[in-house]
Amino acid sequence: MPQSIFEKIVAGDIPSLTVYEDDLVFAFLDIGPLSRGHLLLIPKTCYPTLDKVPDETAAALGRVLPRLARAVMSATGATAYNVLQNNGKLAHQEVPHVHFHIIPKYPAGADYGEGLGIGWPAGRLIDGDSLQKAIIAALEHGG
Ligand code: AMP
Repeated sequence: MPQSIFEKIVAGDIPSLTVYEDDLVFAFLDIGPLSRGHLLLIPKTCYPTLDKVPDETAAALGRVLPRLARAVMSATGATAYNVLQNNGKLAHQEVPHVHFHIIPKYPAGADYGEGLGIGWPAGRLIDGDSLQKAIIAALEHGG
């Protein structure tokens, strides 16, 4: 059965600098960090995108994210960080196994990388009422 690169990491077939693991989730240092301390948190089972993750695994990811963020800040001295989670190629997802990036942010000029650069071309909310209704209706059918 084909395995994602991250499943191979969980299985120990590809080495990683692991920092945390429990029954459901696994965290390790990103091999191409945007800054010092850049971590990845993944479910041990491969779900391609966040919307496919079952509740129990989602809870396990959510439980450990704040703990990992605190540990990264404590270990690096960073005082700011981004949590990034890409879903789909169009959204810059390269590895189709859901993952959360924890990316420390450092002042401009940091020699190990400043962290995530974000473009934020904010628009105007023009169809908020119909969107609100559509999303609520979808949630009533389980999301
Ligand atoms: P994304 O673009 O959100 O899919 O990010 C995938 C991330 O996985 C990138 O930041 C890569 O540097 C990281 N990555 C890919 N292969 C490995 C690996 N073997 N060990 C650690 N990180 C990896």
